[in-house]
Amino acid sequence: MTILYRPDLLFADGRFVSDAGLRVAEDGNISAIARSDTPSDTVVDLPGKALLPGFVNVHSHAFQRLIRGRSESRVISGKDFWSWRNTMYHAAASLDPQQVYDVARMAFLEMTLAGTTTVGEFHYLHTEPSGQPYDDPNLLSKQVIAAARSVGIRIVLLRCAYLRSGFELPRDPGQARFFETTPEFLANMEALIQETPAGSSTVRLGVAPHSIRAVPLDDLREIAAWARSKKLPIHMHMAEQVAENEACLREYGATPVALLANAGLPGPDWTAVHAIHITADEIAALANTGATICSCPTTERNLGDGILAADDVMRKGIRIGLGSDSQAQIDPLEDARELDYHLRLQHQQRAILDQIDGQSLATRLLDCATVNGARALAVPSGMLSPNNYADFFTIDLRDPSIAGHAAADLLPLIVFGMNRTAIRDVAVNGKLIVRDARHPLQDEIVSRYAEAHAKVWRDGRVAAQ
Ligand SMILES: [Zn+2]
Repeated sequence: MTILYRPDLLFADGRFVSDAGLRVAEDGNISAIARSDTPSDTVVDLPGKALLPGFVNVHSHAFQRLIRGRSESRVISGKDFWSWRNTMYHAAASLDPQQVYDVARMAFLEMTLAGTTTVGEFHYLHTEPSGQPYDDPNLLSKQVIAAARSVGIRIVLLRCAYLRSGFELPRDPGQARFFETTPEFLANMEALIQETPAGSSTVRLGVAPHSIRAVPLDDLREIAAWARSKKLPIHMHMAEQVAENEACLREYGATPVALLANAGLPGPDWTAVHAIHITADEIAALANTGATICSCPTTERNLGDGILAADDVMRKGIRIGLGSDSQAQIDPLEDARELDYHLRLQHQQRAILDQIDGQSLATRLLDCATVNGARALAVPSGMLSPNNYADFFTIDLRDPSIAGHAAADLLPLIVFGMNRTAIRDVAVNGKLIVRDARHPLQDEIVSRYAEAHAKVWRDGRVAAQ
């Protein structure tokens, strides 16, 4: 059965067009951007709305939704990233499998309400709180996948390898649920592949060696070679913190990006998450590999990580995708505009990323939130064109945050000014999972999440180390 979605305006080929519809084939793929009078089995009129490609969230840790608001205090979470982790570890240690599901559903619900249709879930909760594997070592991965299926968002589960706390560091008990050996990780990954329907359009897998801190170089080589033998995307935290670079220098005599580039590891299937503390030489080296950088500006500003040199990175042709990471906020456009805003504050200029390679700023930022992310997760999405998944959201053109526009202004108006309140309908694979800004399971998901939240934080606050 074919469906034709007919909004007032449709964003395709880099511009808004009118008198056009999005035609969706039986399999959930886009069959055409068609004239609005094209015959279809079903026609869905979307008056007063514009239709845009769904956002792609490249980097999420769903369970960290629990610490939103809990860590905005030095008394509770200390002064930096390293002490903040203790609050995060408390949440990680507290969840049973049901709560992992309940909390993930909350994060994914919020993502869909923000127009996100695909999430890359960088998942590192594997074992019981004691560190003992569950009878099924993939239990928690499956809980997160089930949560995504319940909400209707497409998931690329980036199963994380976490082998050690760091160079010359004893095991941190806060990380007890993360640890596996490389053979265990590969066996568990293999089992997860076997149990995931091949060719699924809604559940896909990837490999996530956590960081050079947690995965030594020789293990990283083995894991990356295995991932490539399975044609899975590889995602890794790189150069988020100065201390991480310093530890890498002590261990290997090089910083993470230089080390990995010299080892020939990054490639077009590789995503470097953060890549904040990198030199011009490292940017050039990364550009030569074809890797993507995933930036997470709302989290990076929340954690005080630093600012990605998006201007230098983009001038070298490196694609940037975006992630909600710690879920400090879930708002893809806020992440997109922060890429430029952080640089404005740094350089005391405006529109820093405009006209790089002749591309307008708003178009470039939208690409970061859509197609670049889809490429990083190896999914055919992020753009309204034939044979891509029919993933999209609609916006109310009369929402107070964007009301009143000229044709040329609409995209920058959306990218820089739109509130989430404007997002009305969201579709994955051509099926509406949010209608009129409501998800059908919303009340139940929020109630279950509130129960999990109350249990995790019943002991009050967590002391900083
Ligand atoms: Zn992360």
